[in-house]
Amino acid sequence: MYPASFEYTVPATLDEALETLGRYEDEAKVLAGGQSLIPLMKLRFAAPRVLVDINRLPGLDTLAEDGGALRIGALVRHKTCERSELLGGRWGTLGAAAPLISDPIIRNLGTVAGSLAHADPQGDWGSALLAMDADVVARGPDGTRTIGLRELFQGPFVTSLEPTEIITEVRVPDPGPVAGGTYLKLERKVGDFATVGVAVHLSMDDGRVGRAGIALTAVGPTNLRATAAEEALAGREPTDEVIAEAARLAAEAAQPYSDTRGSADYKRTVVRVFTERGLRTVREAIR
Ligand SMILES: Cc1cc2nc3c(=O)[nH]c(=O)nc-3n(C[C@H](O)[C@H](O)[C@H](O)COP(=O)(O)OP(=O)(O)OC[C@H]3O[C@@H](n4cnc5c(N)ncnc54)[C@H](O)[C@@H]3O)c2cc1C
Repeated sequence: MYPASFEYTVPATLDEALETLGRYEDEAKVLAGGQSLIPLMKLRFAAPRVLVDINRLPGLDTLAEDGGALRIGALVRHKTCERSELLGGRWGTLGAAAPLISDPIIRNLGTVAGSLAHADPQGDWGSALLAMDADVVARGPDGTRTIGLRELFQGPFVTSLEPTEIITEVRVPDPGPVAGGTYLKLERKVGDFATVGVAVHLSMDDGRVGRAGIALTAVGPTNLRATAAEEALAGREPTDEVIAEAARLAAEAAQPYSDTRGSADYKRTVVRVFTERGLRTVREAIR
């Protein structure tokens, strides 16, 4: 199916992009990689009057450490993350998630920020970045604000972004010197959306867990943070028993429903098994 007709604009500066968004408000849509927006327009689930293509805006493609933290610009593609040597070790949760996103065609164009703005509960970046406590930086007519991901994700495909705002970058705080993480994804076949995904991150402090991040994909109305599981790890040595208890609590935090991909019970079990497996893997890698 063809999309409904629309105007296409290619601003040269961020201010120009914001000016167009301000003029059309919720009749305009930002176009980044187009890998979610264009299919929605073709299916006529979205019919924006104006598209604001941000692909030629300068300075939005940075993927770099900055004072120990990580900056991911709004035009950083999934493939850039997949190929980045930076995203191992302390940033391992992100490095593990990148190659599991769909297929090479989607990864070539899709952006990390676009994925967050799309807020699909089956999106992999949402969980990987929740586990790492990331924020997005949004520019709008009234200036710049920082939004934590838990506040950003309001419901399936709903965020706290205003239609006049653009995410300019994602910021991931410094995980500390001894840290690691991973992402595990169950998919029916390669390239599919997650049946279940689990992101885990551990920042260690003198042999104990300083901060734990655990977030779940495709088992709730948004990507979910398993807070009780994180708290069960904090300040403890990550022994098999502590990890098993955290995995049990992560499964409890999941809100899955039964569908063609599997029953709710099955998905909850996968959350438990993946959390346990992920945490054990990270513990060994950090050692
Ligand atoms: C067949 C298929 C399989 C897929 N499989 C997976 C998968 O396994 N895992 C996964 O995580 N994702 C998957 N995706 C989604 C893919 O990752 C998209 O690339 C991503 O969700 C959206 O990024 P984008 O840059 O393409 O955004 P776009 O499609 O351009 O935009 C998506 C939405 O975000 C808004 N937006 C984009 N950028 C910004 C910004 N900087 N500021 C404010 N709003 C913005 C747009 O207005 C739009 O509403 C799949 C998509 C397809 C088509």
